[in-house]
Amino acid sequence: MADSKRTKNRCSFCGRTEDEVGLLITGMNGFICDSCAMQAYEITQEAMESKRKDGTKKLNLKELPKPVEIKAFLDQYVIGQDDAKRFLSVSVYNHYKRLLQKDSGDDVEIEKSNIIMVGSTGTGKTLLARTIAKLLHVPFTIVDATVLTEAGYVGEDIESILTRLLQVADYNVAEAERGIVFIDEIDKIARKGDNPSITRDVSGEGVQQGLLKLLEGSVVNVPPQGGRKHPEQKMIPVNTKNILFICGGAFDGIEKKIAQRLNTHVVGYSAVRNTATIDKNNLMQYIAPQDLKSFGLIPEIIGRLPVLTYLNPLDRAALRSILTEPKNSIIKQYVKLFEMDGVKLEFEDAVFEYIVDKAVEYKLGARGLRSIVETIMMDAMFEIPSERKETFTVTLDYAKHQLEKANIARLQNA
Ligand code: ADP
Repeated sequence: MADSKRTKNRCSFCGRTEDEVGLLITGMNGFICDSCAMQAYEITQEAMESKRKDGTKKLNLKELPKPVEIKAFLDQYVIGQDDAKRFLSVSVYNHYKRLLQKDSGDDVEIEKSNIIMVGSTGTGKTLLARTIAKLLHVPFTIVDATVLTEAGYVGEDIESILTRLLQVADYNVAEAERGIVFIDEIDKIARKGDNPSITRDVSGEGVQQGLLKLLEGSVVNVPPQGGRKHPEQKMIPVNTKNILFICGGAFDGIEKKIAQRLNTHVVGYSAVRNTATIDKNNLMQYIAPQDLKSFGLIPEIIGRLPVLTYLNPLDRAALRSILTEPKNSIIKQYVKLFEMDGVKLEFEDAVFEYIVDKAVEYKLGARGLRSIVETIMMDAMFEIPSERKETFTVTLDYAKHQLEKANIARLQNA
């Protein structure tokens, strides 16, 4: 019967009628049967997979931020540290260029320039790394070198550094192989003592050798879930040739090594000129690769970290700026917190000076600024949301009272 045939719904893909299929799904302008739906699913899965394998996102140099733009972005969040910012911006930009270079099939191969940033704790190394991550066009991760120890000791295998990168890249190996890894606290794997024959190395050198393999560029087997290698865990081979490594470390006491080196020079022929120009309050700016060696990094590692830059210690002026100037400065965060309760939070200018004084006095650094502000604001944060206030002004007296009450010495151990 022609009539009944016309009214029967058919799969828009294979043409079979409802009676001929297990299930017919109705769409806006057509139908799909269960087997066509299954097939469509398989096709999409395959297409997605090959897209992922392609290394997907194509970089376009014209659209990428230039070093000046990268630095300008960093300036919004990080106070000072101009040298480190410039080095970082250039390295990241060159990293993109190198990735593009591969596509062009040119004969000149640009080699990667891994970076090492040296600066006392709390001067903004991690902050720089986190900030730059916000505008990167490749996978990025921060790992902590302290969790690493030689195989056989408690700790993670060196390859696990790449686990996070793989996770960030959604296990797309091609993408991860173009990524950037920030290794924090690199100084913690330094050999203790300068003379390897006297100080038997337990944790340092083996880890450094392992790290060297990654920095040099080789295919390493990465445990997809991280941690230690388990025989049952299927490893993912990752080529580190194009992964950019940025290392950061406090290198506590390295100033002494720098001073020693500079002193030796001073005794030399250019003694007068050198002593006149050396700024003893900031020796970090004179850091050279041999200081890293004296500190206990093996020369091969240093060779693989050709870009060496430093962060300045934060002075009063820098701490004062950090309080209010960055885009998400501590003070701006508190103003926002109060704003959410409909309260306008204000500070007397003298309060900022007082906070900086205390941070300097108790050697709390930039990290301490937050604990000090937190201590000053604690009572207000407890009470204000239940009060019907429109503004709250933190006066110098109030700040002093709150901090004295809390016993600031406690913050030193924070
Ligand atoms: P590091 O990694 O050098 O030990 P961090 O980057 O973790 O130090 O800094 C700790 C905190 O101090 C940051 O979260 C930030 O609030 C503040 N800070 C440190 N240095 C700066 C800086 N140069 N500009 C702005 N904030 C900073």
